[in-house]
Amino acid sequence: MALITDCNEAIRILKNGGLVALPTETVYGLGANALDEQAVVKVFNAKNRPSFDPLIVHVASVDQARLIAEVSDKAAALFERFCPGPLTLVLPKKEIVPDLTTSGHATVAVRIPNHPLTLKVIKTSGLCIAAPSANPFGYTSPTTATHVIEQLGNRIDAVLDGGACEIGLESTILELTNKPRILRLGGLSLESIQDSIGEVKIASSSSNPKAPGMLSSHYNPGIPVRLFESLDELLTQYKSVNKSSIGLLIMGDGPSGSNIYNLSTSYNDLEAASRLFKGLRQLKNKGFSKIWTHYLPDKGLGRAINDRLKRAAH
Ligand code: AMP
Ligand code: MG
Repeated sequence: MALITDCNEAIRILKNGGLVALPTETVYGLGANALDEQAVVKVFNAKNRPSFDPLIVHVASVDQARLIAEVSDKAAALFERFCPGPLTLVLPKKEIVPDLTTSGHATVAVRIPNHPLTLKVIKTSGLCIAAPSANPFGYTSPTTATHVIEQLGNRIDAVLDGGACEIGLESTILELTNKPRILRLGGLSLESIQDSIGEVKIASSSSNPKAPGMLSSHYNPGIPVRLFESLDELLTQYKSVNKSSIGLLIMGDGPSGSNIYNLSTSYNDLEAASRLFKGLRQLKNKGFSKIWTHYLPDKGLGRAINDRLKRAAH
């Protein structure tokens, strides 16, 4: 495994069917040529990802998206408004996309990531890049190159180091085949999407493997997570327990200390999102045997953060 900063080196590996973890504004993705079945198999293997869970394909422009998907006017308008950015659209797929990439679905998930290095890799190579989050299936997503190395270092060819991910939460996935439906909350808020296309339903989470991307247990930090309704409720319970084994992941005006990771003391949901996965990792790495946390206000990116916390605590 090589830690690299040269886009041309990343392109060389990808064109040879190898795996390169790539920085994006959301989380690091495990990149492979989406149209090369042999390369895509390697992604599923490296992640231990079940083959029923399809991959998001990353492109650099709406024109490139048209090579792999039917892009309706509505889809094009959403791409124009929000991309490059943390929005993935699920669209009817074109023949050229291998079934493996889409897990046999007639649709393909497409996104234009907002990171200069990865955009350069895609533009220069002309490749469409399948890139699920660069972590073993079911675990916390990586937001730095170091996280990728810790979790997948011996299973991939290289990591392109593009610094810490600015948003820190995966993309919002919007299915645009029939009635628009959000399959996963993420880095683009529900409010922003509704402002653009009106009321949209959020698909319910499920442990049914036929419902891709909606597994109720995910984002596992490696130790049990207990989720409280509010910071007040968490602190009330906390008074009467042995504190040495518990790391707290909180937001807002609360206590501080070496066992406490505050996502944002000023209640800023963007700041909280960018620190979420890092916080879960840090508490685990400090040796605590459990994490206590609480729901954030259910608005803006708070909704997507709550979704991650719920699944981490499942
Ligand atoms: P990841 O990139 O690992 O964070 O996950 C990508 C998510 O996109 C997964 O949860 C997939 O289930 C979802 N996804 C990818 N392609 C499709 C598709 N064609 N239809 C529905 N969901 C999809
Ligand atoms: Mg993932």
